[in-house]
Amino acid sequence: MERTLILIKPDAIEKRLTGLVLSRFEALGLEIAGAKVVRATEELLRQHYDNLKGTPFVDEVVKFMMGDYNNLPDHRIYAFVLRGDNAVARVRAALGATNPEKADPWTLRGQFGCIKNGVMQNAVHASGTPQEAEREIALWFRAEEVLP
Ligand code: UDP
Ligand code: MG
Repeated sequence: MERTLILIKPDAIEKRLTGLVLSRFEALGLEIAGAKVVRATEELLRQHYDNLKGTPFVDEVVKFMMGDYNNLPDHRIYAFVLRGDNAVARVRAALGATNPEKADPWTLRGQFGCIKNGVMQNAVHASGTPQEAEREIALWFRAEEVLP
């Protein structure tokens, strides 16, 4: 059993895609081990994306995740922990490549992502490795809010 962190990004929230995204992951046999609405602070987002530190686009990505480009003034992100065999790799495969223009057309990012203001508005975040998943779950959830 493996856990992975999913974030429904502001573009997908604006498009009301949350149910569709979740149903896709549930159809893989994964179970929901944690779920909440988070009013994400800039500090949390910068910690979450510390792999982007020093890149020319990190500030724009943080602004995007704060909802600035999708008319979401509450800074809201929907955060989920999914659990199941090989969850990290299977969710990433369903998501497709980071760049929505390069993602396979049948993947979530291929279907729903776009590039605006130089930011890849790619609908959903998912952890890249099991180690990354555990780091990110600890950032977004307290231990008692999520199944082990
Ligand atoms: N991103 C972007 N331009 C880039 C690289 C990344 O806008 O050239 C954004 C995009 O929203 C991406 C996020 O920053 O999902 C995190 O980047 P990462 O390389 O970790 O990609 P991911 O793990 O999300 O596929
Ligand atoms: Mg990443």
